[in-house]
Amino acid sequence: MNFLRRRLSDSSFIANLPNGYMTDLQRPEPPQPPPPAEPDRRQSGQVSGGFFSSITNVVKQTAASAGLGEQTVGGPGRRSRILLIIDDPHTDWAKCFRGKKLQGDFDIRIEQAEFSEINLVAHSDGTYAVDLQMFRNGAKVVKSFRPDFVFIRQHSFSMAENEDFRNLIIGMQYAGIPSVNSLESIYNFCDKPWVFSQLISAYKSMGAENFPLIEQTYYPNHKEMLAMPTFPVVVKIGHAHSGMGKVKIENHYDFQDIASVVALTQTYATTEPFIDSKYDIRIQKIGNNYKAYMRTSISGNWKTNTGSAMLEQVAMTGRYKFWVDTCSEIFGGLDICAVKVVHGKDGKDYIIEVMDCTMPVMGEQQVEDRQLIADLVVNKMNQALSKTPIPSPQRPTATTQPQSGTMKESEQSKIPAQRPPPQGGPVQPQGLQSDSHQPLHHLDTQRSPGQDLLPQNEPQRPPPTTSQQPRSVGQMPPIVHNVESQSSLQTEPPPKTQPHPQLNKSQSLTNAFNFTQSSFFRSSSNEDEVKADTIRNLRNSFASLFSD
Ligand code: ATP
Repeated sequence: MNFLRRRLSDSSFIANLPNGYMTDLQRPEPPQPPPPAEPDRRQSGQVSGGFFSSITNVVKQTAASAGLGEQTVGGPGRRSRILLIIDDPHTDWAKCFRGKKLQGDFDIRIEQAEFSEINLVAHSDGTYAVDLQMFRNGAKVVKSFRPDFVFIRQHSFSMAENEDFRNLIIGMQYAGIPSVNSLESIYNFCDKPWVFSQLISAYKSMGAENFPLIEQTYYPNHKEMLAMPTFPVVVKIGHAHSGMGKVKIENHYDFQDIASVVALTQTYATTEPFIDSKYDIRIQKIGNNYKAYMRTSISGNWKTNTGSAMLEQVAMTGRYKFWVDTCSEIFGGLDICAVKVVHGKDGKDYIIEVMDCTMPVMGEQQVEDRQLIADLVVNKMNQALSKTPIPSPQRPTATTQPQSGTMKESEQSKIPAQRPPPQGGPVQPQGLQSDSHQPLHHLDTQRSPGQDLLPQNEPQRPPPTTSQQPRSVGQMPPIVHNVESQSSLQTEPPPKTQPHPQLNKSQSLTNAFNFTQSSFFRSSSNEDEVKADTIRNLRNSFASLFSD
């Protein structure tokens, strides 16, 4: 017994424990691991059985990581796949996925964390492991696992919050983890002018009538920010969200001032004419589900996403659908996206931005939208996992026992996976979305569209030249059209004078992420070999546990 106590007090021993084992041991209380005869009953079932129970957990988790222990995750006879969801804890995604299964009766094991809580290692042979360290309910949770799919809801880059997690996106891409939206599109969304350049291509292809993109000027730095032809203008500095870095400039003097601020930020800036707006329109697309919202500032801020605003769902029109469908083609396809439009008092619409899978879900339909997103992710997981080809055995024939660190322990149990194929496969649809953390206070209502908001199935027409003040909820008969499928929507195909260059490009881009050809699970022909190696690893683990 003293031997076991010594072992549990040994920090290097603890550091070498495999997946998830530290979850039990790194609780704030008690400071020292409990002696085996006195298990901490406050903890989860993982530790309630004491030391030998924990050893069992070690075995289970090691085997699970190796693909052998699916039964241990969902109960006897159950198998599971791991879905890593990058989001803050405000949205309980596990609830949204409750009861959902993958083809082959696989359970979905949800691991939800923020970017700041994860780390990963990826090898060129296709092996990888994600480390997770976070505090939940006052307890420190440390896990290491191998996600089969990732769903990203958080911005991976924001200059405003000084948060840059592009290194993790690169790592996931390096590992070949399939995702919604595609990792390539997420990486491409890390610079707003880069995204806007895609909209410029659509504008050039379709014309201002069909794709009314706002005028914009790009400055790589402050040096060319000398004068503007007209005022007021909106200056947007760098890559930031939620209205940050967006300044309305009234005259040349203020413009010079803001140029000097841009000089200090050492980043790029864009300028747009200020649109005297009545409201914003947001058109969202989650798979084949379409919704449109009108957002009107209540507090009077020219940025409707700053301060209080009233949110009302409005009818989807063919025109809106066309815009969001067009935007959903960029960067190889976006399964989840939204188009932001400013509707001016001049009655015109101005497309200002497209958002990706980080778009917030809003209004009274949040719950439904999250379910739609969950269904979409399950669908994409099925596609990714069912089309996984048989991986080539690239595992080394001998396994080295890790010496220290939880990551090394996790690597011990991971299965090599074939690296993602080169570009050239079919187009992978992208997309997803949600969000409950709007910075604004919204009054969510449903309303009938204004004269510029065409009801569903109404023949499409150009945007009106006159504007109509949005009415409050009580004044509006509720007319809400959620488009569940493209076929149910009247499409409004604007005349194209030339093929859309985005489409061809997006196909080739998508191919880089064609996870239909990537392999994440071993075939049955390799399973015996995997089991044999894993059992060898487990024996090594036990040998190291009981040798001194
Ligand atoms: P996100 O959070 O989606 O990444 P953001 O909110 O930081 O983006 P924008 O959407 O570009 O940045 O601008 C915020 C708000 O400012 C818009 O919702 C809109 O109401 C207003 N706005 C933006 N550009 C203009 C413009 N050129 N003229 C008038 N209003 C504008």
